[in-house]
Amino acid sequence: MFGQMQDSPLLVSQLIEHAERLYPTKRIITKTVEGDWHIYTYADAAKRSRQLSQALISLGVKQDDVIGTLAWNTFRHFECWYGISGIGAVLHTINPRLFPEQLDYIINHAEDKYLFIDTTFVPLLEALQAKLSHVKGYVIMCDEANMPTTQLPNVLCYETLLSQQDGDFAWPELDERQASSICYTSGTTGNPKGVVYSHRSSLLHSWGITGKDITSLDSQSIMLPIVPMFHANAWGLVYACPMVGAELVFPGPHLDGASVSDMINRFKVDISAAVPTVWTMLLQHLRQSGETLESLNSVLIGGSAVPRSMIQAFDQDYNVEVWQAWGMTEMSPLGSLNRPLPQDSKLSYEEQLNIRSKQGRPCFGVQMKIVDDENHELPHDGKAFGRLLVKGPWIVSQYFKMEKSALEDDGWFDTGDVATIDATGNMQITDRSKDVIKSGGEWISSIDLENAAMGHPDVLEAAVIGVSHPKWEERPLLIIVPKNKNKVPDSEALLHFLADKVAKWWLPNGVEVVDEIPHTATGKINKVGLRETFKDYQFEEAIA
Ligand code: ADP
Repeated sequence: MFGQMQDSPLLVSQLIEHAERLYPTKRIITKTVEGDWHIYTYADAAKRSRQLSQALISLGVKQDDVIGTLAWNTFRHFECWYGISGIGAVLHTINPRLFPEQLDYIINHAEDKYLFIDTTFVPLLEALQAKLSHVKGYVIMCDEANMPTTQLPNVLCYETLLSQQDGDFAWPELDERQASSICYTSGTTGNPKGVVYSHRSSLLHSWGITGKDITSLDSQSIMLPIVPMFHANAWGLVYACPMVGAELVFPGPHLDGASVSDMINRFKVDISAAVPTVWTMLLQHLRQSGETLESLNSVLIGGSAVPRSMIQAFDQDYNVEVWQAWGMTEMSPLGSLNRPLPQDSKLSYEEQLNIRSKQGRPCFGVQMKIVDDENHELPHDGKAFGRLLVKGPWIVSQYFKMEKSALEDDGWFDTGDVATIDATGNMQITDRSKDVIKSGGEWISSIDLENAAMGHPDVLEAAVIGVSHPKWEERPLLIIVPKNKNKVPDSEALLHFLADKVAKWWLPNGVEVVDEIPHTATGKINKVGLRETFKDYQFEEAIA
């Protein structure tokens, strides 16, 4: 017997329609590319998203046409999310920090028909446009007064396009399985791969992440999503906020510590989200300026492991709770989130920090397991580590235009991460399987070493890579950026500092001090780049 309830489709357009009806006066605030403040409401955003849909139809855009964006987090980009997907076209958010050859690969691979671009990215597109065979036109996301002179062909002004439409338009009822958007993984090895989200998966993910035990977003929240809309869907926040009527503060391109602190304090932001490198910059700015973050209650941090020292600094110095999140582009992206459990408050502060440093418990909708090389499931004892596999309705099943399934034979997706899971279901990433250091047949977690090194008061950033070793196969090399160039910690002091924090045989065999650690297009430590830089590195002496 089947249930007899309505089978109405879940559609992205319903999110903005809901916000327009229920939270019409809630604000969306943007620090624009030009540097001024733009403030309007969900009602305004809904009307302009409809005008955009009308404009797209007038340009000949049809269902399933892919429309790319190269844009910062702004109100206009927000309108693209709804205006494009609303008519059944497919939003393709493009990460402008990718290498030019990756950019032309993904724009051609996705067959983008139009590109919506911020003025910042005009020069980037001018250099690429000759290779972009499917693009019919470039919509510059500004008004006439700010239109740049450009060699791009078929250029249109975003505000002029919208001004030609009246917004009297109803979004069609689509099949919920239709594609709503595409995001490419950053492709550190090989070409980037496209992940195609459906309207259904996007809505289920929004429900999943708005839970009280997950982001707790509600109509009281003022959210500052610093994580870009081109990085794994800004972690779903651009859908989740209208779903619950949370206000949005968009930072545009202004991501430095001073700007972020100003936005939080000016608009009384209570929750924000970004990768660890952004918070490193903010914390450094706060220490130097003496500014505080009175309104901020919590920060969602993910994309790479959150150093324990960061959790502690936010907590003790600024009274902000860190919620570490783990996920992937392939997972829409949220997989797990670390929120304290009631029983944790009875533990010592150090024990609580140990728990808070893990990547968290899966939210409802995501199943997780760890397996060994023979695919046998491993126990959830917080010790056994193995390949982390996931399953759920907002997780990829196949990459865009690839014949092969992205799943294992039994229907699980291999995340490429190695992890432990403890008895409470709290998962901890040991490493990406490519980054784990193989020493004498055992594994060393580069993440744990980095985390420990980041706790040193003179270290701004730390990276650990495996370097080949004649006896042990690989040994760890610690690479650090000092907080202050005139106060560089010496190798011995650093190793001494690490000695009681990690197993003795994990201690790095060498320490290198650099001015800057390279990052990927999504703000992670670029381990591939570091391994290339240090490929001929020779350790002075073997410690282990
Ligand atoms: P990219 O395009 O850079 O690969 P993703 O966001 O899809 O962007 O990357 C997903 C990977 O990032 C995960 O498989 C994991 O290795 C890493 N990651 C994400 N969040 C965390 C976290 N909190 N701790 C450790 N690693 C993380």
